[in-house]
Amino acid sequence: MTNTTSLQPPLDAKSGMKPKLLSVHEAQSRIMTGVRVVSSEQVDLSRALGRVCSGDIRAALSHPPAAVSAMDGYACRSKDVMDLPARLRSIGVSRAGERFQGHLSDATCVRIFTGAVVPEGADVIALQEDAVEIEGEVEIRDVPPVGRHIRRAGLDFAAGEVCLKAGREITARDIGLLAACGHARVSVRRRPIVAILSTGDELVPPGDEPGPDQIVCSNGAALAAAVTTWGAAPVDLGIVPDKVEEIAAVVEQARGADILVTTGGASAGDHDLVRASLARHEFVPDFWRIAMRPGKPLMFGRLGELPVLVMPGNPVSTLVCALLFLRPALRAMLNVTPAIPGFEKAILGVPMPENDQREDYVRARLGLAGSNIVALPFPAQDSAMLRTLAEADALIRRPPFAPPATLGAEVEIIRLDLSAGRF
Ligand code: AMP
Ligand code: MG
Repeated sequence: MTNTTSLQPPLDAKSGMKPKLLSVHEAQSRIMTGVRVVSSEQVDLSRALGRVCSGDIRAALSHPPAAVSAMDGYACRSKDVMDLPARLRSIGVSRAGERFQGHLSDATCVRIFTGAVVPEGADVIALQEDAVEIEGEVEIRDVPPVGRHIRRAGLDFAAGEVCLKAGREITARDIGLLAACGHARVSVRRRPIVAILSTGDELVPPGDEPGPDQIVCSNGAALAAAVTTWGAAPVDLGIVPDKVEEIAAVVEQARGADILVTTGGASAGDHDLVRASLARHEFVPDFWRIAMRPGKPLMFGRLGELPVLVMPGNPVSTLVCALLFLRPALRAMLNVTPAIPGFEKAILGVPMPENDQREDYVRARLGLAGSNIVALPFPAQDSAMLRTLAEADALIRRPPFAPPATLGAEVEIIRLDLSAGRF
């Protein structure tokens, strides 16, 4: 059993000052090294969208399988169309799905359609608009260069070539590619199972009428949705009141999940009992408290094999922590790189004050000024204000101890509509 008070960062021996809080980046790294890559499973293409390839996928077929025409026209030999116009005898038809069986001899051509195999001997595709059929013959009036409009065998990919790399998040385009490659099933990472536990005496489930001192639990539903968006499978363990025994009992139900996420009760208040509840088990803490706003009381550790992420209860803190810590953890479990998404640049539409020691994630709207992305922070940033998070386009990252930023200063942002428009 672990003594949770050991998690309190000790006072610095020399200065007697409070020690530095763990940086966001350090916390992310420690979480990512604290989780394991999940196993893989086979799924049909119809279920592969958004899943992650567990290994490199090689083409089982070549595409196209033989040289085919990219246009409708006449397949002919270049030596027969040196002098134009040229009169050729049409000896057959090659269409997609049914090739012409013979081969071209002197002064002959074959009517050909897009996708049809190019007959043996042919090296030129005369376009149909440059040819006229006259009395059983074809007069070719113009020809493109040799090889133009002929897709050689394996032009797109040859059997054995890698078409999708391990770690690829499968898009609709990739599904087309997989099908063309000859794969009706694909090996993907299993969806990591995320157990979600909401703690708080004041919480009632969505849809229930809250009593005078109660509020609706929004974290469980929001986290389940976030986790689903990020390719994992949520398991909602529901709401537990602020009682050590009860929290400790429900924590048991998370065994077998790939990660347990709790919300609420993470701070040092009288009713913040998640640490005490975990300490009833064989919890091994890794860190507690980070230099970040919102989300300072974040805690991470392991319960045997089970990584546990303890998040603060304020709805904005929960979701911002989920974006910054749970999402990278899930990406690490799915073996997707980079696990931590990078920042984009924007310029400030208003000045911002200097920052203290905590890395700040500020809800903002985005607009455009010429080719610049302009970020406009919401004036109120209370971490209980879920509506501003819903309305925000991005979070502005303000580094610890950032000096005051003037209007037009460059800042880093994370867009919140990461998956919008991806196909
Ligand atoms: P706590 O982290 O438990 O101190 O909670 C901080 C604030 O977040 C309090 O105002 C709680 O009422 C609120 N809160 C905690 N859990 C949830 C939840 N699951 N849904 C919505 N609000 C919550
Ligand atoms: Mg609470």
